[in-house]
Amino acid sequence: MKVLVINCGSSSLKYQVLDMDGEILMAKGLVERIGLDGSVIRHEKVGQDKFVNETPMKDHKEAIKQVLDAIVDQEHGVLKSMAEIGAVGHRVVHAGEKYACSVMINDDVIKALEECVELAPLHNPPNLLGINACKELMPDIPMVGVFDTAFHQTMPPESYIYAIPFDYYTKYGIRRYGFHGTSHKYVAQRASEILNVNLDDLKIITCHLGNGASLSAIKRGKCIDTSMGFTPLEGLVMGTRCGDLDPAIVSYIREKENLPFGQVNEILNKKSGVLGISGVSSDFRDLEDAAAEGNERAQLALKVFSHRVRFYIGAYIAEMNGVDAIVFTAGLGENSINMRDIICNDLGNLGIKLDLVKNRIRGKEAIISRDDSPVKVILIPTNEELMIARDTVDIIAGETKK
Ligand code: AMP
Repeated sequence: MKVLVINCGSSSLKYQVLDMDGEILMAKGLVERIGLDGSVIRHEKVGQDKFVNETPMKDHKEAIKQVLDAIVDQEHGVLKSMAEIGAVGHRVVHAGEKYACSVMINDDVIKALEECVELAPLHNPPNLLGINACKELMPDIPMVGVFDTAFHQTMPPESYIYAIPFDYYTKYGIRRYGFHGTSHKYVAQRASEILNVNLDDLKIITCHLGNGASLSAIKRGKCIDTSMGFTPLEGLVMGTRCGDLDPAIVSYIREKENLPFGQVNEILNKKSGVLGISGVSSDFRDLEDAAAEGNERAQLALKVFSHRVRFYIGAYIAEMNGVDAIVFTAGLGENSINMRDIICNDLGNLGIKLDLVKNRIRGKEAIISRDDSPVKVILIPTNEELMIARDTVDIIAGETKK
């Protein structure tokens, strides 16, 4: 079956076409500046140069139309017609407590996602726009929703309940949900395959370190804790997000700077993190360069970041009473030799011994711990799109058996 994977942001859209009979990537692309001047689609048929088309796209429906045109284009396309698409898999950020696994999208699911808009105001609306646009343009092609929050639904209450009046949980659903679930699930499964040990026999800490960053504690294949919370703002220090913070700071900044609440939220989401500390950049490549040139605030930002990752690793080892593998993934986790080294430095007493030579690798699957390291450290490039396509095929297969 050919699956189209769609990941809609507010003004951008990422897509892939996969032939799931052999899990082969056929084409991928990115649409940017949807609804803005200079809308552009960058489409890549695997093995060919990128095809770039700058053309007005006033909304997500027009963007998806461009995607479909590119996919069936005589020169750059990979399919003869749209009818070849067996199913569409949508990445959806927030499904609240409603869905613990992927589902076939129907009107009830769309309604449930609309109800979750309040919980993810930046993410769920564009996800819904993508779903509705596909529904209009491809009414007969089944669609599956794969949720970022689903993998974390196995957390026990002690991991997800906040210590605020319980009513706020029952009335408003305020609890830890966790995000990046598709990535954490994918790399945990790959780790079990690479180690040739059943997931049921493993305790894994997965470190998804990108612009957004989160850690998960995965015991016997199930997530038992994760660092992101009610929103993707909690947990680790990130590119521009503050991560864990004394909640009293919010009202204090608001009062001192005389800011409306929305602006404080914006500062914590977009102007904080390593950008806020360093004043240099949210991009770790820029920070590593600046730190190497002696910029002290860039050095501090990298130290604060790694300190928080180590803090969570320690906490999760305690929670699981040990760990068998630590996995690094996403932009920074896959590519920064330096950051992996700093995070794993001097953890020998916890059984974590990084091999500094094997660690000199970027973007490829590899075990990077020493042979005598009781805990295996593994680099695994994430592949959320493949995971979405796999779930899509599974759900469709389940439906046809019914
Ligand atoms: P992601 O959100 O997973 O795409 O990750 C993006 C982040 O990965 C960027 O902001 C960079 O900070 C980081 N990154 C990517 N490549 C490198 C690299 N070679 N060295 C250090 N950081 C990198």
